[in-house]
Amino acid sequence: MRNLFGGSCFLCRGAATALLCDACDADLPRLGGELCPRCALASPGGQVCGRCLTDAPHYDATVAALAYAFPADALVQALKFRGELALSSLLGKLLADRIAHATVDRIIAVPLSPARLRTRGYNQSVEIARHVMPAKLDLHTCVRTRETPPQMDLPFDERRRNVRGAFQCTRALIGERIALVDDVMTTGATLDEVAKVLKAAGASRVENWVVARTP
Ligand SMILES: [Zn+2]
Ligand SMILES: [Zn+2]
Repeated sequence: MRNLFGGSCFLCRGAATALLCDACDADLPRLGGELCPRCALASPGGQVCGRCLTDAPHYDATVAALAYAFPADALVQALKFRGELALSSLLGKLLADRIAHATVDRIIAVPLSPARLRTRGYNQSVEIARHVMPAKLDLHTCVRTRETPPQMDLPFDERRRNVRGAFQCTRALIGERIALVDDVMTTGATLDEVAKVLKAAGASRVENWVVARTP
């Protein structure tokens, strides 16, 4: 493959043999510490957090590779908005490292609407998922049935309503364990809405696999 960055690190422009130099790679804000297994926010002792206990989401677990902080946010935004598709392999592999031993029946990437897909030309979540577990990737079962304003443009308390009813499942998923791939998880409203639809189609378990988690 052509080296898209001409032998220089995507972040610091120093000499590099991969997309990132060793120093920038080491500096990535890898997510660690004690996290709620369900939503991947900090939680003492790694216990299910109070928010997940009182208002349980439809998804069962969340795995995130990075904290959504500099420079992870710059990488995610370059992939999403500037067409830097080569970053999908970097971000996908970071995620793949975190879920090395996971067992799922099917991987679904959070879909874009057909209109948004035409404008952008690609779905960044699909491009990431291609590098995680390509043999299990399913691009057809979950569809977005209507366009919604971008979640990032809305206050947190409006995001759940914004995506309500925006997704549909095109087949039954009786007893299946599904991994749901997305680039960033902030409030989790989109992932929760998709998980609700997948569970309604019969899925027994839905795990979020996201590149970056907003702390
Ligand atoms: Zn660098
Ligand atoms: Zn939680």
